[in-house]
Amino acid sequence: MGYPLLRFWEARNVKHGGELMWMDLLMVDGNGTMMQASISAIRIPRYRERLTAGSMFSISGFDVSRCAQNYRLTDSSLMIRFSETTSFEELIEPVSPLPEEAFRFRNQTELIGLANTNTQLPDVMGEILGVKSTVSDPPEDKNHVMVTMKLDSDDTVILSLFDSQAVAFHRQLEALRADPKVIVATSINPKMVGGRLFLNATSGTHVFFDKKTRAGSGRFYELVARDTGLQSAAPLLRSYAKVETMTIAELNSFIVTAPSQEIDFLCTGRVVNVGIEKGWCYVACSKCSKKLLRTVSAFTCGRCNNTHAVGTLRYRVEMAISDDSAEGTFVGFDGVMTKLHSIRASEALQMLAEDGVNPEDSMIPQFISEMVGVTYTFQVRVTAYNFTGHHKTFTITRIAEVHGRLPVHDVDISGGDDDGADDDDKPSGEPAPDNIGGEGYW
Ligand SMILES: [Zn+2]
Repeated sequence: MGYPLLRFWEARNVKHGGELMWMDLLMVDGNGTMMQASISAIRIPRYRERLTAGSMFSISGFDVSRCAQNYRLTDSSLMIRFSETTSFEELIEPVSPLPEEAFRFRNQTELIGLANTNTQLPDVMGEILGVKSTVSDPPEDKNHVMVTMKLDSDDTVILSLFDSQAVAFHRQLEALRADPKVIVATSINPKMVGGRLFLNATSGTHVFFDKKTRAGSGRFYELVARDTGLQSAAPLLRSYAKVETMTIAELNSFIVTAPSQEIDFLCTGRVVNVGIEKGWCYVACSKCSKKLLRTVSAFTCGRCNNTHAVGTLRYRVEMAISDDSAEGTFVGFDGVMTKLHSIRASEALQMLAEDGVNPEDSMIPQFISEMVGVTYTFQVRVTAYNFTGHHKTFTITRIAEVHGRLPVHDVDISGGDDDGADDDDKPSGEPAPDNIGGEGYW
């Protein structure tokens, strides 16, 4: 009797240079249920050539063991382990019918129930609404693709793929002649972050579009039937505009609970104060944009190892911003602030006309202090740096909209804060965080 091999993939140890640990296989047993099998690294060479997804195999002489309690791939609590004596042969004749499909689809409610438990790696199917990709040509390090999809409810959810899987996904999408409508993704890890569901790909994640699966084609034809015939506004992959909005409370909890990653969000909030502790600008190395250290007679750049570095003045405006949910600390660097106010930091210093004052100790220019009370919609980039726990500031990468001074309703913005930034501010001498790089600091 033959058993179809559905999918297989390598499990590698990311912490040890990607060392191959074992191979996971998903097969279908005689009752039509999914069954997990595992081949340890030393035995892989014996079987590797034979593995073909979709083929039928006879298998005998294996060990049976319990599945790990975490990250389960099947509903069965038992799995097969290949041993010294395992025989695993592809059945060529007679030609078997198409292998059964087997997925463990979970709907949104079930996924929320499984989130953060690390017990199951279920499959999902949904409508693709947009794709945001950091994959460039040729690909660089640290790739991330975010697929905005609609499962069964009207809420959207983001499926993230990382590194080589992100690159493969990006290429797969590019190679298609038309944008797919339906995505099936297997073995995903659901996470709740700040009250929202996120789906992260795992090493076992396989992606199928549209009619590549029988399950997906059902959904595909439903969507086609519902299609209004209107051309979609832009190709999926290029629609970079789709950045999820988050409240500040969600953002604060995101960095505590989500895996470290780089991702952009849109927030809307009112500036509560500016520059209270760190002033509004810093003297940066003109080569690398890192904050310079002042010595008696010159500036030193620690990064360039230059004791006579040329300094340029750059904005670094730290702001407390609040919405109805919470308050957070956000930093606008040179590019963002220059664009917002159409004036360079050096020009702003000139206007202050404070002779002989260290620019970093100068008073806050009026146009910056006037940001207090104004509501902005801005894009925030969460980076690995935000997950270190030491720095609770978020970097603003773009001001999307200026809403002006909205009427304040129930939020008290004064909070008794002393706006003493312009008199008792001390030069901190602390080097700027590593991610300061001014324009395109990343
Ligand atoms: Zn430098």
